Amino acid sequence: MFGSNFCKRLAQVAAFLLFVAAATSGHAAPQTAPSASSSAWQRPAASATLQPSAAPTRADILRGAYGPYRVNNDLLSYHLDVRVDPEKQTISGKNSIRFKMLADGRRIQLDLHPALEVDKILLGATSLPYVRDSGAVFVDFPETLDAGQEYTIDFYYSGHPLQTARFGGFTFGKDPAGRPWIYTACEDIGASVWWPNKDQWRDEVENMQISVAIPNGLVDVSNGKFVGKTDLGDGYTRWDWLVQYPINNYDVSLNIGNYVHFSDQLGDLPLDFYVLPEDLEKAKKQFAQARGMIEAYQHYFGEYPFPKDGYKLVEVPYSGMEHQSAVTYGNHFSNGYLGRDWTGVGVSPKFDFIIIHESGHEWFGNSVSAADRSDMWIHEGWTTYLEVLYVEYRFGHEDAIKYVNGYRAKVQNREPIIAERGIAATPPQDMYFKGALFLNTLRSVVNDDVRWFALIHDFYQHFKYQNIMTEDVVQYFNQQTGMNLTPLFEQYLRHTAIPTLELKFSEADGTVDYRWQADEPDFAMPIRAGKKTDWQIIQPTTYWQTMKTPLQKNEFDVATDLYFVNVSRQ
Ligand SMILES: [Zn+2]
Repeated sequence: MFGSNFCKRLAQVAAFLLFVAAATSGHAAPQTAPSASSSAWQRPAASATLQPSAAPTRADILRGAYGPYRVNNDLLSYHLDVRVDPEKQTISGKNSIRFKMLADGRRIQLDLHPALEVDKILLGATSLPYVRDSGAVFVDFPETLDAGQEYTIDFYYSGHPLQTARFGGFTFGKDPAGRPWIYTACEDIGASVWWPNKDQWRDEVENMQISVAIPNGLVDVSNGKFVGKTDLGDGYTRWDWLVQYPINNYDVSLNIGNYVHFSDQLGDLPLDFYVLPEDLEKAKKQFAQARGMIEAYQHYFGEYPFPKDGYKLVEVPYSGMEHQSAVTYGNHFSNGYLGRDWTGVGVSPKFDFIIIHESGHEWFGNSVSAADRSDMWIHEGWTTYLEVLYVEYRFGHEDAIKYVNGYRAKVQNREPIIAERGIAATPPQDMYFKGALFLNTLRSVVNDDVRWFALIHDFYQHFKYQNIMTEDVVQYFNQQTGMNLTPLFEQYLRHTAIPTLELKFSEADGTVDYRWQADEPDFAMPIRAGKKTDWQIIQPTTYWQTMKTPLQKNEFDVATDLYFVNVSRQ
């Protein structure tokens, strides 16, 4: 996702408001969430001072923890079958959830935002009792479900789904011509803001059907392969989509509008594009970049991850989101990011930032996924680095180095990139920019491009379609390189400060003392230093070492464009 900081802050405020409501009402959660138009819901995002270290709320823990009633089952498939009424601004229908029990049990945890009603939950013909606790829905079974057995329940629900911020959650909007434009974007608040599911990151279904009934004349674009549409005879048409790969809950989307469709093909891969009729000509020109983007990423990582589902770009009014195989796009059909030179160094005006960034998530985020929000840098740090690789592939190494270093100014170094686990916490924005600069640093540490490109290719191939944590990444890189990179990953991801190379010159002796100042006691990172035209690689640790140098303090350079470090000279 991109440009969602506003939303993330809002989600934190929302959680806080729920907490306050719960604390003051004596209930576990308010019966109804504040409405989208309430100023109490909207306003705090701009003005409230948020405490990132504030204790997690009960709702955060229920949503974020992989608790006992989640760990006892494994998702197999969903069939989300809903009707969306643009007039009444409601959604209703069911999700058929198929799962396998991993342990004997009589209860599982699903999730649905308190703003929506649970109508009934059925196992076959049997109506199941349930307990709602903030966003969680604990479903109870009359008899023990057996480990190893598969079950399907039908979860019926209805109501007015919540819009958060300008485009978060579920939005009943209008396009510029006043026609319905309805869309979802729920990575921060969670997919259960609009449909019932096991709303966490660790477990994904293997496949999914999405059926969306909408008034005749409108088009729904969801994830996966378009299966067909059926006139229901009551003024509504059902659009059916089939996702043939694992998918994150928050990637599941519907986009309903007066879309027109055009298509292209890259080898066997179908490319489908859905835009408003007014934007068709602009889109045909701008979306031609999708081919070059896919070619670049396939060059580095291998085949597009979801070939059977195809690749789609879908116009929306917000900047964009990596909805799997149906990437949403709102970058005004122009290069850069919302009309700006995104990293300020003259490179991003050469391409459409949203096509390049959001589609990069097909490889990192959608195929290789983090198992907990805390480790979301696996999505955002990697995808930001994929932008850099795209630049290198299309425009050369020099532009790539310029581009990635344009991100330096955006790094804050206020909180570690990896957030607290198990509380649905959103990591700070540094996961994007510092994450990419760290990966660029790692390439310099490996110091062998052939090896580096093989390493990241194999890393992707090894973990594709899996949900992993940072430990898996570190272990893989250590194993494959034979290096101990753990202190590097730890320093950049779990501490706020970046390492500082301390240099102390003694002109009389013609020497320089050097060491790393870092939080990790074992931090040891080779780095190019000395003369720019003839770097030498030194091996600083956190202990002082001395070397001879003919260079004066002001002549002694460090390759800070290849390594994201500070340098202090004395
Ligand atoms: Zn992103």
